[in-house]
Amino acid sequence: MTDASKTHYDIIVIGAGIAGISLASYLAADHTVLVVEAEGQPGYHSTGRSAALFSESYGPVAVRALSRASGAFFRQPPKGFSDTALTTPRGFLAVADAEHWQDLQAFGALPEVRAVMRPLSTSEVLVRCPVLRPNRIAGGMIEAGAADIDVHALLQGYLRRLRAAGGRLASGLRVEHIERTASGWIVRSAGQAHSCRVIINAAGAWADDIAAKAGLTPIGLQPKRRTAALVDTPPSISAANWPLVYDCAEHFYFKPDAGNILISPGDETPSEPTDAQPEELDVAIAVDRIMTATTIPISRIRSRWAGLRSFVSDGEPVAGYDPGDDGFFWLAGQGGYGIQTAPALARLAAAMVDHQPVPEDIASFGLVAGQVAPGRLHEPGA
Ligand SMILES: Cc1cc2nc3c(=O)[nH]c(=O)nc-3n(C[C@H](O)[C@H](O)[C@H](O)COP(=O)(O)OP(=O)(O)OC[C@H]3O[C@@H](n4cnc5c(N)ncnc54)[C@H](O)[C@@H]3O)c2cc1C
Repeated sequence: MTDASKTHYDIIVIGAGIAGISLASYLAADHTVLVVEAEGQPGYHSTGRSAALFSESYGPVAVRALSRASGAFFRQPPKGFSDTALTTPRGFLAVADAEHWQDLQAFGALPEVRAVMRPLSTSEVLVRCPVLRPNRIAGGMIEAGAADIDVHALLQGYLRRLRAAGGRLASGLRVEHIERTASGWIVRSAGQAHSCRVIINAAGAWADDIAAKAGLTPIGLQPKRRTAALVDTPPSISAANWPLVYDCAEHFYFKPDAGNILISPGDETPSEPTDAQPEELDVAIAVDRIMTATTIPISRIRSRWAGLRSFVSDGEPVAGYDPGDDGFFWLAGQGGYGIQTAPALARLAAAMVDHQPVPEDIASFGLVAGQVAPGRLHEPGA
């Protein structure tokens, strides 16, 4: 909880998911920073529910640039950031049936995708994942460098960094009211009031609600529920070295996960911002699709969960000051890519908060600030 003696900060970050904590950890080096989190612990919502994949080919243009710009951090985190490796090799295998094979090949021909993925014939796909049914596979694309992310280690690393720089985290405090003052903001929650010069809106699925509380125009964020479940790995199957297998029409994906198999129907059901729960029907659809596409016998669901992936209209993240208020900074709309892009997106956002240009290494991947600026969403036709 907060230090009662201190109520003014340079910056208040709303939301202690990966977005808020990673950005706050950079800002705390030069500013007084308070992170306010509604739940009892950081990472409770989307951040704690992901499939934890790092892929440089997954997602739209700016996402791919941010993921590539994050690669070095994942492969070699700064000294002292984490006692354990942040990633372990997994591989990402996109597969297509006859109907979608041309689309997948066209995607694989994009220059930055071609740099990390290569095409596979049906028989080469089956070498990597022998349980796939050959009659349903026309071909695949493999990204050998894709990896599993240790999301807990990533979040804890940023939290340690935040605290070491003097930043504070107040959990169990839901922001209820936000008032504009001449020099900044007053943020109120459960009888407490804190003031600041700049608000960072890193509230995940709730980001538009936070804007509304501040009297600003929403960006049209749409949270979408995605379901996942863990099923047993049958003793007859050796799954540990499979890549994550992703149906390019996004009807399913699966990957080995600590001795079990993680499955998802790739659902994207529009939702209110909420503590998302899995629907039995979505779990059943996942089981049906996986059993149709593979020979994995599924007889028992070990656990199931759902989380929200929140998107704006163009599917790219949103980072930048609100066009209507230069004291309100957005960091939202990370969709299904908020973990894999976090290292670069946090550094980019930290530079933007301080009115600095896009860091050179991130710009070298082709990322320009306008691709993520919130203003693009208020333009006519957006
Ligand atoms: C099933 C699933 C699979 C995914 N797989 C991947 C993957 O493989 N790779 C990848 O990179 N990404 C993946 N993602 C996406 C990734 O999880 C998200 O993009 C990322 O976690 C978003 O982080 P965030 O910090 O913006 O949101 P969150 O983690 O949701 O954090 C937002 C926080 O804001 C807090 N908050 C909201 N309102 C208030 C308020 N009024 N006051 C105080 N606090 C508030 C919330 O309590 C919450 O803790 C997946 C997501 C799901 C659901």
